[in-house]
Amino acid sequence: MKKNCDTGENRKYLNDIAFSKEISVKELKSPVDVLKIVDKSNCRKCGEPTCLAFAAAVINGRRQLDECPAIPADELASYSVKGRRGADMERDQKQFLELLKNRIQSVDFEEAAKRIGASLANGKLTVPVCGKPVSVDQNGNLYSEIHLHMWLAVPLLSYILDSRGVPLSGQWVSFREFSKGMEWYGLFHKVCEESMRKVADSYPELFDDMMDLFGGRRAPDFQQSDVAVVLYPLPLVPVLICYWKPGDDMDSSLNVFFDSTGEKNLPVESIYALAAGLARIFEKIALRHGFVVR
Ligand code: SF4
Repeated sequence: MKKNCDTGENRKYLNDIAFSKEISVKELKSPVDVLKIVDKSNCRKCGEPTCLAFAAAVINGRRQLDECPAIPADELASYSVKGRRGADMERDQKQFLELLKNRIQSVDFEEAAKRIGASLANGKLTVPVCGKPVSVDQNGNLYSEIHLHMWLAVPLLSYILDSRGVPLSGQWVSFREFSKGMEWYGLFHKVCEESMRKVADSYPELFDDMMDLFGGRRAPDFQQSDVAVVLYPLPLVPVLICYWKPGDDMDSSLNVFFDSTGEKNLPVESIYALAAGLARIFEKIALRHGFVVR
């Protein structure tokens, strides 16, 4: 059931989805595992002749789980398919997080607070993350009223460690314009911009919810986009998301821009992780709303 967007209750509901604990993910290792979650009607809506054929295609990577309309949209995020890159990336990120925590132990918090626009009290740095205060202790442990997903924890620690504290220029640039940006852009476009575009196409309230949940603000008239919203996932790393609606003979399009100082305040890999994390959270909110993102 879709929720009414205007109530405080709905705001709390969205907040719970965006910042709630990671849902436990069940790994699907064989076609039999996949068969258990489709309805076995052989309805062919996925384009395969049988549910078993679909299940085999998912396991060998030819088809995606969300191509079977029989799987409830709000359950999709709770499955992962063995051997997929997503699971590998999650594991890589956990290892990377431990490395960052070790490095935080040698950071001078007083110097860091001045450099990155954070406050320091009781031995903890507090940084506004999407408008919400998040504290970090000298062991890299994070404290907040919201649960912190990995997507947020890694860029935040990386920001404390590596931001040079360069003031914002006010000039928006594409990810491509960062050093190594061209090398990463194909992946960035697919994982971040295309994923967000699909969510925006299917989820009309997305931009209003971004403003509400993430403390975003409108940036009218940017490159003649239909909607442009600026978010502050980290104080010196704002993100401008622009969306062009589909026209008569034109597909929709979505681009993500960063302040030109972005890579001086966050390594490019962490900028990528931050944007990919935002895309993932938008998708999660859309799925929970009952929108099918294709
Ligand atoms: S759409 Fe789903 S239920 Fe229908 S045949 Fe394909 S796998 Fe089976």
